[in-house]
Amino acid sequence: MNSRKLFTELVLQVNLNEPASEIREKVLLLMEQVPGLTKPKILTGTSINLTPELNSWLRESVSRINNHEPIQYIVGETEFYRRKFKVNSSVLIPRPETEELVQQAISLIESKSNPALLDIGTGSGCIAITLNLELPTAIVYATDVSTRALEVAHENANRLDARVTFLHHNILISEIPFKSLDLIISNPPYVDESEKETLDTNVVKYEPHEALFAPGNPLIFYQAIASKGGRALKPGGLLMVEINERFGTETAAIFSQEGYSTVRIIKDISGKDRFVTAIKPGA
Ligand code: SAM
Ligand code: GLN
Repeated sequence: MNSRKLFTELVLQVNLNEPASEIREKVLLLMEQVPGLTKPKILTGTSINLTPELNSWLRESVSRINNHEPIQYIVGETEFYRRKFKVNSSVLIPRPETEELVQQAISLIESKSNPALLDIGTGSGCIAITLNLELPTAIVYATDVSTRALEVAHENANRLDARVTFLHHNILISEIPFKSLDLIISNPPYVDESEKETLDTNVVKYEPHEALFAPGNPLIFYQAIASKGGRALKPGGLLMVEINERFGTETAAIFSQEGYSTVRIIKDISGKDRFVTAIKPGA
C-alpha cells in the first residue's frame, strides 16, 4: 500500500472543524506509530505492508480524533523538553507554558550543587523528571494525590532513566514531609469552574478534571503551597508556580502575605501573566 495515498485517505475521514494543517499533523502522528514509518517516508509515498491490526487501529484512531480525543492520548505519548513522555487519561497533557517554567527553574538552580527540589502535583512527572535529567546532581521529590498519575510518572522516570522519589500526598490536607528544600515548583490545578465553557472540548471531555479544576476557589492550591511550602523550604529557598493568567496579582499577594520576599509575576511567551516566583527570606 502507498503510504501517501493512505495518508490522504485518512485525512479526508477527519471531520473536525480545525485548520487543515492541524488535521494533517494529527494523521501524520498516527501514521508514525506504524513501525518504520516516518514523516518523510509518508510524504514521499513509501510503500508499506499494513497488518490488519494496524489497519484497524488507524481507522479506530480516526474515529477517536473525530470524537475530539487529544491525539496525545491516542498515540499514548507527547514531547516535553525534547523528550517523549507517556501520557494517558489519568494525567494532564504537559503544556508548552510548563516547559517555560522548567527552563526558568533550571537557569535559577543550575549553579547550586546537590539542590533538593520538590514538584507538587507531578502528573506525568514531566517537571520532576526533566529537572533531574537536566540537573543530574539534584535530589528530586515529586508528589501527587492521584495514584494513577503516580504510576504514569514512575513509568516515565524508568523509561527516561531519571532518579525521582515519588510520594502520594495531598497538599490541601497534609504538611510537606520534606525539609530544607532549595526549590518547590508546581503547576497545580488552576482553572475555575466558571471557566469551564471557555475550555476546548478535547480538554473538558478527556483530561482529568482533578488536574484542571481548583475546587471551590481558584487560588486554593497557591494558599496551601505558600503556607506549607514556607515550612519545607530552606531560608533563601525558591518557590515557582504556574498560574491562571487572570489571577496574577491575587496569586502574588498570597505569597507576599505569607512572608515571602522578592515576589515576582512573570509573563509567558504569549505575554500573559503565567508564573509567580518567590523567595523564603532569611538566607
Ligand atoms: N505537573 C504536571 C504538568 O505540569 O503537566 C501536571 C499538572 S496538573 C495541572 C495538576 C496535578 O495536581 C494533577 O496531576 C493532579 O492529580 C494533582 N493534584 C490535584 N489535586 C491535588 C492535591 N490536593 N494534592 C496534590 N496533587 C494534586
Ligand atoms: N493550562 C491548562 C489549560 O489551559 C490548565 C493547567 C492547570 O490547571 N494547571 O487547560
